Amino acid sequence: MAKFIFVTGGVTSSLGKGIIAASLAKLLQSRGLKVTIQKFDPYINIDPGTLNPYEHGECFVTEDGAETDLDLGHYERFLNIHTSQANNVTTGRIYQTVINKERDGEYLGKTVQVIPHITDEIKRRMLLLGDSGMYDIVITELGGTVGDIESLPFVEAVRQLQWEMPEEDCMVVHLTLVPYLSAAKELKTKPTQHSVRLLSQEGVHPNVIVARTEHPLSDELKRKIALFCNVKPNAVIEAMDASTIYEVPLKMLQEGLDVIVLKKLQINGYAAPDLAKWRGFLEKLNYPKSKIKIGLIGKYIELQDAYKSILESFVHAGAVNQCKVQIVNVHSEFITNENVADKLKELDGLLVAPGFGSRGVEGKITAVKYARENKMPFFGICLGMQMAVIEFARNVLGWEEANSTEMKADTNCPVIALMEEQKKVKKKGGTMRLGAFECDIKKGTLANKIYNATSISERHRHRWEFNNKYLADFEKAGLLPSGKNPQTGLVEIVELSNHPYFIGVQFHPELKSTVENPHPLFVNFVQAAKLYAEQKVQNKTEKLEKETI
Ligand code: GLN
Repeated sequence: MAKFIFVTGGVTSSLGKGIIAASLAKLLQSRGLKVTIQKFDPYINIDPGTLNPYEHGECFVTEDGAETDLDLGHYERFLNIHTSQANNVTTGRIYQTVINKERDGEYLGKTVQVIPHITDEIKRRMLLLGDSGMYDIVITELGGTVGDIESLPFVEAVRQLQWEMPEEDCMVVHLTLVPYLSAAKELKTKPTQHSVRLLSQEGVHPNVIVARTEHPLSDELKRKIALFCNVKPNAVIEAMDASTIYEVPLKMLQEGLDVIVLKKLQINGYAAPDLAKWRGFLEKLNYPKSKIKIGLIGKYIELQDAYKSILESFVHAGAVNQCKVQIVNVHSEFITNENVADKLKELDGLLVAPGFGSRGVEGKITAVKYARENKMPFFGICLGMQMAVIEFARNVLGWEEANSTEMKADTNCPVIALMEEQKKVKKKGGTMRLGAFECDIKKGTLANKIYNATSISERHRHRWEFNNKYLADFEKAGLLPSGKNPQTGLVEIVELSNHPYFIGVQFHPELKSTVENPHPLFVNFVQAAKLYAEQKVQNKTEKLEKETI
């Protein structure tokens, strides 16, 4: 039987509940326990797949094709495990299940209510992964902040589960904020007291309080929080701001969070934490030997959460290369033929981001052209790859009208076209080509070298595809389809033959990069950018030397 840890949040949102949950999971995993994390989100959307990135950041896609909250990305990156549809549940999904059951007559004669019907469905889903027999511990992060109307049924479900389960099988960790008032030069515990009181009013009493703070909590302050919140002083955990999210597990280890949890859950005989790989990664991350600048060309760059997995993949790949990767955000909407050189010339590599719709695509195409012509390392992901195909068609093959039917439905040169099975799709939610699909890689190509494999599997989230009608022309002119789906022939990877590093992928490699398994496409791209940067310096020195002579 699995044991359950619930992580709630108080005072404000954005305290990093996902990171605390993932850090605790990492520590328990490092002691030899099998751990997974799930997230329960209080909004009514069935999943975040239909949400604009401005609303909710990136949509993370799992192996089984679930469109999920970006916190699942953190879970996978920290734990090096796969999550699934079952790991992310929304209020919308809960209600949909209950309403469908009602229509099927399963509650015949009964009034369907929040308690017990909605809470029963929440509880069923909270226990689902634990019932699989695959895990010792299931951590459940409750989205939202305690006191929100919409998260009430989730808190009530936790209350009932706590009542139903043996004491040692279930616990609650509450994350709060201890703000520092600079005028008073004091840390304040009142918001924490209030949020614990709010949670208690809803019937749930936390076993551990994790306090986010900008300054260290003195023992006295910890005791004060403990007394007023009715937990033992060692159950008040300081969570100081960290320089990187990857430091947080070590900070939690120092504070003894895992030990308190193991005690409460009466788990004995656990191993000492083995964090050698994790520490090795941090060592490399914290002491880089070189630095590069990568341009991230996208249209949501104001909101960093929109490209979360890409940014984290660069952190992993940078560490492998002991290289600090500085991301320079370039808004695709404002790139023109006139300013492109100015905007991009200082960079060592270019990543054209995924995206939907026509806003900013011409800027992306212009950026691809710059990278291709200047032999700057280029990496296109999903829409980024499609833009590379269009750029090549227009500027190398001379097909001025080349476009994607997503941007111009009636283009007479649809080099990117809607996938056949997408043509009949009317509904928007969960209808893209989603999740893991195989890809065969041609021997001797750059992709083959990068992956060191001829058969791979990667995750997808798209509706449009490379139009195979034009494939032969592209290949002849030097844009090679180095990866294809073996079942459908769909082009998955394109690369340029006469360029040191130019690769576009229809899938999303960023969804599979983890601390312990950095993605080879990112690792090799950083390597190529490093080389490019070194070359630039060398060229400059040679030029200077010539001038001096
Ligand atoms: N809009 C493109 C498509 O649906 C690309 C999607 C993406 O970048 N994720 O095919």
